[in-house]
Parts: sequence; C-alpha cells; structure tokens
Amino acid sequence: MNIILLGPPGAGKGTQAAHLVETRGMIQLSTGDMLRAARTSGTEMGNIVADVMDRGELVTDEIVIGLIREQLETAEGNGFIFDGFPRTLAQADALGALLEEKGESLDAVIEMQVDDDTLVQRVVNRGKEAAAAGQPVRADDNEESMRTRLMEYYKKTAPLIGYYYAKGQISSIDGLGAIEEVQGAIAGVLEG
Ligand code: AMP
Repeated sequence: MNIILLGPPGAGKGTQAAHLVETRGMIQLSTGDMLRAARTSGTEMGNIVADVMDRGELVTDEIVIGLIREQLETAEGNGFIFDGFPRTLAQADALGALLEEKGESLDAVIEMQVDDDTLVQRVVNRGKEAAAAGQPVRADDNEESMRTRLMEYYKKTAPLIGYYYAKGQISSIDGLGAIEEVQGAIAGVLEG
C-alpha cells in the first residue's frame, strides 16, 4: 500500500509517518529529511538548497523528483509513505509516472487539516523546545520562515487537494486532535 500524507507544515505528517513505519513496516520517504541529510553531509546539492530551505521556499521539482526516483529504485518494504512529497502539481504527475513504471499505484492520499494559527504555534514551539533541550533547531522553525512555508503551501501544494479529489483518491481528516486520535483517523482511512 502506497500513501501520501498531505498537509501544511506543522500538520503532523512526520509524526504520523513514523507511527506507520513502526506499526506497519512501511517505508517513510520524506523529501525534507533527505534534503536536510544532504545539507549535513555537505553535498553539492545540499549546499545549493540550504538558503532556499531556510527561507521556507520550495526547492526545485527537478531536485526532489530526483531524490524520490532514487529511493523508489532501491527501497523495499511494506509500501511507501510519501511525507512532504509531492508539493506541486508537477511533482504529483511525476510520482504517478514513477509508480506506474514500477507497476505500482497510489492507494490513498490523506489530507491532514489543521488551522493556520495552530500550525504557526506548533512550529514555533517545536523550535523553542528543541533549543531548550539543547537539540538542533531547524533553521526554518521560526515565525518568519513559517509564514513563507504556509504561503508556499497555499499557492503550490493546496491545489493537489483538488487534483487528487478529481482522481477520487483523497480522504481528509482532522489533524487537530491528540496524536492517538489522528493515528486512529488514519487507520480508519487505511482500513476502510
Ligand atoms: P519539510 O521537512 O517537509 O517541512 O521540508 C522542509 C523544507 O524542505 C521545505 O520548506 C522545502 O524548502 C524543502 N522541501 C521538502 N520537500 C519538498 C518538496 N517536495 N518540494 C520542494 N521543496 C521541498
């Protein structure tokens, strides 16, 4: 089973993906994690994307599609969770083509709905909590970058909701509740 977790920054996609990895043996493909790893290891690509990411803008389709293509060629597991990908219509088309090449399909797109004030609050708190615990703080977990990330989401990623709706693949859930409640809602979609 291959699924997309779709939603604005701070909606809880990464947290929910981690749970699905643990409980169902699925493979999480997070382009954000891949890009951060490329930065940490100082690859040429990592250096190119660093400033764009810190500002909260999207990196190019070419780069992220390349990362996903590489993973789909090698990763094996009980289905993929696409977390933070696709973020544009071009990425969505590319994902459809890549899955088709593999003889696979997309089984569900789960849209996690959270209101904007909560999103900004969550992400700013995530930055502060990491700092207080001496953990690395994401350079984009601050209010200014977060506003840009939200704007990018509404301009470029939210159109995917209509795109997958037209394909009959989207299920929207409330992402505001406790982590366990959201886990339950996702399980309901996957088992329903
Ligand atoms: P995330 O961890 O998913 O919030 O991603 C962090 C940052 O990485 C985003 O704000 C973008 O700059 C970049 N990024 C991650 N995934 C994508 C994607 N699918 N398309 C373009 N940029 C992305």
